[in-house]
Amino acid sequence: ARGAAEPRLLDKTIGQQLVDTATRFGDRDALISRHQNIRLSYRQLLAQSFQLASALLRAGIQKGDRVGIWSHNNVEWVLLQFATAHVGIILVNINPAYRTSELEYALNKVQCKALFVMERFKTSDYLGMVRELAPELATSHPGQLQSAKLPDLRWVVWIDAAGSGAVGLDTAGSGAPQGGEQRGMERFSRFIAMGDAQDPQIAEIARTLTPYDPVNIQFTSGTTGFPKGATLTHRNIVNNGYFIGEAMQLSEQDRLCIPVPLYHCFGMVLGNMACMTHGSAIVYPNDGFDPVTVLEAVQAERCTGLHGVPTMFIAELDHPRFSEFDLSTLRTGIMAGSPCPIEVMKRVVSEMNLSEITIAYGMTETSPVSCQSSTDTPLDKRVSTVGKVQPHLEVKIINPETGEMVPNGQSGELCTRGYSVMHGYWGDEAKTREAIDAEGWMHTGDLATMDAEGYVNIVGRMKDMVIRGGENIYPREIEEFLYTHPQLQDVQVVGVPDSRFGEELCAWVIAKAGQSLTEEDVRDYCKGRIAHYKVPRYIRFVDAFPMTVTGKIQKFKIREAMIESLK
Ligand code: ATP
Ligand code: MG
Repeated sequence: ARGAAEPRLLDKTIGQQLVDTATRFGDRDALISRHQNIRLSYRQLLAQSFQLASALLRAGIQKGDRVGIWSHNNVEWVLLQFATAHVGIILVNINPAYRTSELEYALNKVQCKALFVMERFKTSDYLGMVRELAPELATSHPGQLQSAKLPDLRWVVWIDAAGSGAVGLDTAGSGAPQGGEQRGMERFSRFIAMGDAQDPQIAEIARTLTPYDPVNIQFTSGTTGFPKGATLTHRNIVNNGYFIGEAMQLSEQDRLCIPVPLYHCFGMVLGNMACMTHGSAIVYPNDGFDPVTVLEAVQAERCTGLHGVPTMFIAELDHPRFSEFDLSTLRTGIMAGSPCPIEVMKRVVSEMNLSEITIAYGMTETSPVSCQSSTDTPLDKRVSTVGKVQPHLEVKIINPETGEMVPNGQSGELCTRGYSVMHGYWGDEAKTREAIDAEGWMHTGDLATMDAEGYVNIVGRMKDMVIRGGENIYPREIEEFLYTHPQLQDVQVVGVPDSRFGEELCAWVIAKAGQSLTEEDVRDYCKGRIAHYKVPRYIRFVDAFPMTVTGKIQKFKIREAMIESLK
């Protein structure tokens, strides 16, 4: 299937788009960071991102260099996103769940020259972890780090936990990091102060940029194993944000609550870019996910939209204080990232007032969205499918063994082609060629079906499909069924090796608060409702699932834990 040709593709860099938006909507709210108590208009966002771009250049960081950001959502993150884009520096999103060895790997893998890092988060001392990797920081001058373990890194810039170093909003006095002299590190507010928003160098470099230049390296979530760094261009990101915003009919009247991490394309593209291309306001309720602060932010900021992965919406809906909040301003939002159960979609529509919510389907490697519904998609399709192929993209469903397209209604591997497909995996030609074929199709590894009208359903991941006694079983189908159990809050189904059937099904179940559900109850519920071979052989009650910071459930860890417990 091929997406409609309208609206037109934007032929701009991220910086050009921000200038255009600030020209049209300069006085409108661009960014509201509730936990930092900071508000920026589009004019301020543009000026401060220019100043930071100038500081980066004056610090000796040049077009094409890589700069890492290792932080939860905050204003500094967004300033860095736009500042790097203005002057062609490549921003590298680093997972806040990483610890020292993963950080070392990520920084060295893409040769980061600078790292922006939050000082600390809750009990985690992020700055301390950087110091542990690079003890040379204690005796080096800012910008002149020479570290044995991080040979390319010159700068470490820290974002203080108390507030922002954003211009004019400096929360001076929160102090330097503890632990003696730290000369090689610079505080964000002092770093940006080196820059000048009028610096003529910015425009000079901006003129040399094209929309096809790389601007971002985003690591995939690590749901199925080790994260991969996808290199994305201005054109990839601006357009993906723009088209999803068009489908949601965003305008400068909209205010979107974004509790999903900026580290991931969901927050960065479907949040920041969708808003920025439409003059809408971006609202961060907090720097780590917490359902109450999300509900508070929606009410206090009169948000018109709310994003989330399914587990976030479930946590909000099931929170004991849910009914206290006025959510009547909500209209739209995106649920995405992992399978979106129909039951959850229905509740979101009826209980949260999100009558125009859309499910989006995509992956980091496709910037991310390739399928989406829009405000005029009938409700039943909007809650039960991932919509249709996005404008200017193509989607096909193939038999992964033969490469042939499968008939409508039959499941196969979804492939995407068009403007959104990444440049490649950074520094990994072989993996890139495995993922993107010679004709430009990105092979997603996801199983999907398409109906005659072009609506797409995601059936599951190829890696997750279970073959039990010769029967193909999609765990997703059993999860959807079990979600209808009234006492059950959340469920995950995986396959585990079995000597007799090849694989056996296993369900991890979270019961609703105060419910005393037993294995027998769950099994009885299945009997007569689903085929006997789909009834999970193993049922385990748990309090939580192993999860990525992007809120995705890592089935491979559930599988590993089950295999261990069955030994
Ligand atoms: P990794 O590639 O590192 O294992 P990941 O694939 O989860 O992790 P992302 O790029 O963040 O990393 O996620 C893309 C994947 O998320 C898709 O390939 C798909 O499996 C899943 N996904 C995204 N949106 C949906 C959706 N609406 N319904 C079902 N699955 C979805
Ligand atoms: Mg993936």
